[in-house]
Amino acid sequence: MKEAIHPKYHQAKVKCNCGNEFVTGSTEESIHVEICSKCHPFYTGTQKAVSARGRIDKFNRKYGMNQENN
Ligand SMILES: [Zn+2]
Repeated sequence: MKEAIHPKYHQAKVKCNCGNEFVTGSTEESIHVEICSKCHPFYTGTQKAVSARGRIDKFNRKYGMNQENN
């Protein structure tokens, strides 16, 4: 049985735009990425959603549109 041919594999140092650095296996020696698990849209999106909801709550309270005292 023939062994699969792998390209040269490195422990690549990955540097993200957010400043996070981590190591991963790659054919590249170093990688620059714009998004990593720390600043992935899933996480940042969640944070934005939370703060956006807080703003809406404030808006509703300010303008008396919050019906929570029914
Ligand atoms: Zn990042």
